Amino acid sequence: MSKRMNITPDSKWKEYPIGGEVLDAGNAADFKTGDWRSMKPVWHEDKCKHCMFCWAVCPDMSIKVENGKMVGIDFDFCKGCGVCTAQCKFGALDFVLEE
Ligand code: SF4
Ligand code: SF4
Repeated sequence: MSKRMNITPDSKWKEYPIGGEVLDAGNAADFKTGDWRSMKPVWHEDKCKHCMFCWAVCPDMSIKVENGKMVGIDFDFCKGCGVCTAQCKFGALDFVLEE
C-alpha cells in the first residue's frame, strides 16, 4: 500500500506527504482529476459516427469505448480541455460551462 493511502481523518499533520510529491508510480487512477474541470464536453449520441478521433486525441483516456464504439465520457477523469470537441467534425461534441 502506498504511503498516501495510509492518511486518514485522524492522521497528524506530520504524517501528511509534502504537497506536490509523487510518492509512487502508477497512481493516476487514484486521483479524479475531473474535479478541476470548469468546462465540459457534451456528447450527442445521435450525431456520433464513432470515428474515434476524439478518443485518439483525449489526453486523459476519458472517451469511453465498448466494442469499438464510443459510449460516453468518463467525467471522473475528463479535465475539460476541449481537445475532443475541437476534433469532432460531426457536431457530436459540444463544449459548455460546467454548471
Ligand atoms: S469525434 Fe465525434 S463523431 Fe467521432 S467518435 Fe468522437 S464524438 Fe463521435
Ligand atoms: S475535454 Fe479533454 S479530457 Fe475531456 S474528454 Fe475531451 S479531450 Fe478528454
